[in-house]
Amino acid sequence: MYLNGRAAIVTGSSRGIGRSIALALALEGADVLVNYAGREAEAQAVADEITAMGRKALAFRADVADPGQAAKMVEAAVQTFGRLDILVNNAGITKDNLMPRIREEDWDAVLSVNLKGSFNCMKSAIRPMLKARWGRIINITSVVGVAGNAGQASYAASKAGLIGITKSAAKEFGSRSITVNAVAPGFIDTEMTGSLPAGTKDKMLAGIPLGRLGMPGEVAALVVFLAGEGASYITGQVIMVDGGMVM
Ligand code: NAP
Repeated sequence: MYLNGRAAIVTGSSRGIGRSIALALALEGADVLVNYAGREAEAQAVADEITAMGRKALAFRADVADPGQAAKMVEAAVQTFGRLDILVNNAGITKDNLMPRIREEDWDAVLSVNLKGSFNCMKSAIRPMLKARWGRIINITSVVGVAGNAGQASYAASKAGLIGITKSAAKEFGSRSITVNAVAPGFIDTEMTGSLPAGTKDKMLAGIPLGRLGMPGEVAALVVFLAGEGASYITGQVIMVDGGMVM
């Protein structure tokens, strides 16, 4: 199997894209820590599915925005699996509004989870990777971080910032065979997009050459590739999975 013997953390993997990534990594042989913020039962169900595949799994509650909780999560992964090879920073939230209406606490929440949260996890996870002189960090950004979007200033800022961290880390850790890449999904069918009004959805679909929403598994397939040996000469990249929405 492509990821045999590897151990991974996938933040925000109780549902949506993260869940799909956690299951896809496990299917290729990796042990996985399934991180979540509140939905314990859903996270445990993902962990149970992974265990049923014959892999080790741990459902672990941690708010990635809190550096202490992020550090404890990394410790738990290393203790449970004996190693940590792959970090997927997937946990993310939106609190969309037009700029004059964005409340300070909403701005802070989006930046804290999406940007600082990813940094917190990278800061802790890089230690075992540096020791092992091998690692894969995959940051889930968004096409919105590349192209911007009206009504999503805070989300766009957080995802553009994540691209900046990705490129800096790729330069900082490349000499230790640690690659750092960003995956930028377009419009994927999850709870995050489920609440969009029909009119907004139709407008977005009109701008997608493939003419449909993406599925979480279509993002997970790229993450699996980037997490393994096949992607050993790819680092510092932002790769879109968006049906051609941004090109
Ligand atoms: P989702 O269905 O809303 O799931 C969000 C996940 O993040 C859940 O597992 C949630 O845990 C977790 N989470 C939220 N806040 C957290 C925190 N503070 N600490 C730890 N975990 C936290 O989202 P999604 O649509 O799958 O999106 C996943 C990622 O892809 C996000 O980074 C998002 O920005 C990005 N993305 C999504 C799309 C899209 O079209 N869906 C497009 C581009 C990029 P609980 O279940 O416990 O609440």
